[in-house]
Amino acid sequence: MKPPSDLDDIVRTIGECGGELRAGGTDVMARRRVRRTAGPFVDLLGVPALRGVTWRPDGSARVGAMTTVMETADDPRLRAAYPALTATAGALATPQIRTAGTLGGNLLQRNRCAYYRNPHFTCFQTGGDTCPSRDGLHLYSAVVEQGPCIAPHPSSIAMALLAYDAHADVHNRGRMPVRDLYGDGTDPTRDHLLPPTDVLLAVDLPAPVPGERAAYHRAISRAEAEWPLVEAVARVVLDGTTVTSAAVAVGGVAHTPLRLPEVEAALTGAAATPENLLAAAATATSRCTPLPQTGYKVGLLRDTVLHVLEKATAVPDGEAERPRAGRTEGLQEGGTA
Ligand SMILES: Cc1cc2nc3c(=O)[nH]c(=O)nc-3n(C[C@H](O)[C@H](O)[C@H](O)COP(=O)(O)OP(=O)(O)OC[C@H]3O[C@@H](n4cnc5c(N)ncnc54)[C@H](O)[C@@H]3O)c2cc1C
Repeated sequence: MKPPSDLDDIVRTIGECGGELRAGGTDVMARRRVRRTAGPFVDLLGVPALRGVTWRPDGSARVGAMTTVMETADDPRLRAAYPALTATAGALATPQIRTAGTLGGNLLQRNRCAYYRNPHFTCFQTGGDTCPSRDGLHLYSAVVEQGPCIAPHPSSIAMALLAYDAHADVHNRGRMPVRDLYGDGTDPTRDHLLPPTDVLLAVDLPAPVPGERAAYHRAISRAEAEWPLVEAVARVVLDGTTVTSAAVAVGGVAHTPLRLPEVEAALTGAAATPENLLAAAATATSRCTPLPQTGYKVGLLRDTVLHVLEKATAVPDGEAERPRAGRTEGLQEGGTA
């Protein structure tokens, strides 16, 4: 069907036809092929207002939902202000997917559990009353239990936006913290809480705090074209060597992207010494309840968090090097600013 260009038309059309919004199409078309979505698509491509980055005088940014992942990763001003966001966007999937996939589609994509994506199985997400992954293959599943569905949340960018305290702007609904798109993960039937008729307009990022630094790291089983086993973003402000504020978020470990308040509390007010970073990273595992095949994620979570903390608090070039605890080999990672 011809794409409507007016948002109210889009909402009306999707309500009437009972279909699904399509942005870059990289997730919905894959689900169409395995019969996990039916009905017509309503394209968002005809709404140019949803695309691009705008800056406010206070230094905060608004990134349109139809901005591609590649545009997000490559924007020099975004990279300077939000380096862990652009590093996250630049590390995910493949160049082809980053070119087609959009910010909104990334945040609202469906999970990648092999049982959900297999039309021969039913699960909570497809009208069933069980999770076949629990008694079957769950090597890549959640290690933090939130509810009956153990599919880890697929959005790397959502995880980064949590660390940046970003807000989502939804048509006819208004602004909400990005975490409210996902709730607490207890509902096993969905990966996000927006109804099909809600259009995500943009994401608003607060202006960076002076002196803030951030880092991203993903632990992944192959170099690209794969979701990470565990990933993390750390955003810190330092006064000398003392951490005065910290925001830490992780992905790949729970049914929603997670902030880690326990790590943030352990860091805030502490000197960024190897011992303190290790102690803070160790608290990341306090909520882990591993299944038989996910025990490896407990140590991987701690080490991934440690790695981003070390990177975010590292002394910038030109200053004396602090000793580092150094436990993980990074395969893909992002820089500090
Ligand atoms: C090999 C591979 C590896 C990948 N690795 C990663 C990874 O490491 N991390 C990661 O995060 N992703 C990864 N991806 C997923 C990829 O990033 C997503 O497929 C892509 O971002 C989805 O964007 P899209 O615009 O194509 O979404 P679409 O397929 O168009 O839409 C996805 C969903 O979002 C809804 N939607 C889209 N835009 C809006 C909007 N504005 N308002 C309301 N609803 C909307 C659609 O209705 C649909 O339900 C990977 C994909 C592949 C194939």
